[in-house]
Amino acid sequence: MAQKPLRLLACGDVDGKFDILFNRVRAIQKKSGNFDLLLCVGNFFGSTPDAEWEEYKTGIKKAPIQTYVLGANNQETVKYFQDADGCELAENITYLGRKGIFTGSSGLQIVYLSGTESLNEPVPGYNFSPKDVSSLRTMLCTTSQFKGVDILLTSPWPKYVGNFGNSSGEVDTKKCGSALVSSLAMGLKPRYHFAALEKTYYERLPYRNHVVLQENAQHATRFIALANVGNPEKKKYLYAFSIVPMKLMDAAELVKQPPDVTENPYRKSGQEASIGKQIPAPVEESACQFFFDLNEKQGRKRSSTGRDSKSPHPKQPRKPPQPPGPCWFCLASPEVEKHLVVNIGTHCYLALAKGGLSDDHVLILPIGHYQSVVELSAEVVEEVEKYKATLRRFFKSRGKRCVVFERNYKSHHLQLQVIPVPVSCCATDDIKDAFITQAQEQQIELLEIPEHSDIKQIAQPGAAYFYVELDTGEKLFHRIKKNFPLQFGREVLASEAILNIPGKSDWRQCQISKEDEETLARRFQKDFEPYDFTLELRQENGLNPGGGGCCEPRLLHCTPA
Ligand SMILES: [Zn+2]
Repeated sequence: MAQKPLRLLACGDVDGKFDILFNRVRAIQKKSGNFDLLLCVGNFFGSTPDAEWEEYKTGIKKAPIQTYVLGANNQETVKYFQDADGCELAENITYLGRKGIFTGSSGLQIVYLSGTESLNEPVPGYNFSPKDVSSLRTMLCTTSQFKGVDILLTSPWPKYVGNFGNSSGEVDTKKCGSALVSSLAMGLKPRYHFAALEKTYYERLPYRNHVVLQENAQHATRFIALANVGNPEKKKYLYAFSIVPMKLMDAAELVKQPPDVTENPYRKSGQEASIGKQIPAPVEESACQFFFDLNEKQGRKRSSTGRDSKSPHPKQPRKPPQPPGPCWFCLASPEVEKHLVVNIGTHCYLALAKGGLSDDHVLILPIGHYQSVVELSAEVVEEVEKYKATLRRFFKSRGKRCVVFERNYKSHHLQLQVIPVPVSCCATDDIKDAFITQAQEQQIELLEIPEHSDIKQIAQPGAAYFYVELDTGEKLFHRIKKNFPLQFGREVLASEAILNIPGKSDWRQCQISKEDEETLARRFQKDFEPYDFTLELRQENGLNPGGGGCCEPRLLHCTPA
């Protein structure tokens, strides 16, 4: 069955002229029907303070279309983008984040990179660095199945984009633009690449991503630079197009070459080499490993640096993402309360919840600093799933079923809450009903999403959400718009319908002494031991548990409010 194409709009620098832009979008939609998304590249905000934005921010005015924007390109506008991971700026207007991939529910893949190029680390909030580009490339392009993405959004033009193409007008693409963006476009093979900042419109002839007669045909890329909104010369700033996500396309259809296709602007004449020089080699994909000896020398740890002691060229393990400030949940952080840690894998660890609903209420946490499940790489997700499945078996053997929930709202480090509920308490359907009923009472819209479906496909980047996963794999999902009761998941589970311990719905009322916490943690470790898959991991790595460590985790809160 033929897939209905998505209808998208792309826009250049808005420069704070929101009314002009949205009135234009309204007029277009009135004339030619509704579009699905508006994507804005370049400067979304102007450098002067304006009352116009206040009206959108406070909800007096509303964008007529779901709008996604890139972040700041200068110091003056950094303040508008509070959360580096993306967030809702106003109703219908979402900041995508510093860099990443956004997969829409349709399967459309959009890669975004905010800011302008800087080669000096550390970079301020309005720049991207060679490291940022290299991590995007590593994240996406290193698997053999990688074929390309649908759309790439950057603010600067890629350097050299005019090579082999039609004239780029007054813009000299050998001098202007970012070589890092060129290298990213070269690696990602987007079908559409949008950029702005040069205050002009340039639609390059499509270019091919394969070498003729040497490689199999691949899809072509269309690069489109857009002008600024409301420019007096009436240069094009809004571009309308239809697209079927490449995932859903027939391979032959996808690689059809347009008649005017040109050579790849980034490939020839030694320029690739000069572009490549600025990109550090892809970093090792394995996360830093932590090995605690949890039974003997409590809390002592060793990292995997000793792993290749026999190899003449030891590989440096990649450091997991670091938090911008102190974090209670980063395993290497001094704020972590180590006595609550009960099991450590390669990418994730288990800890007893502080002030848990029960003695065996645990959290699955990534070792590195990730805000939500949506941000995890495939290998981290895999281990999260392994922990979930193992905990389900473990609790099942003890006559309990697992309820898992995540709240990506007012929290900075992913915490998957795993709460065992005795089978004798109630059936899975009772748990589901309790969530639905109590959500209705609080006007929280819980959507039932299919088993095994990926939160990544449902949650927009940066958007806040809550979901609960039942032991059947069914999930109930809520997209948080403005406010959400922080203790909702606990409240439902503590309610009479389920655990019937209403007094325990707030974790602060469940705190116990450190000695008691230690006792509970030791008990959990011992009980969990027969299910501990990380023992094998350690043996495979030829590591003895124990050894010295520099960063000892200390504090773990269940739900910081
Ligand atoms: Zn963290």
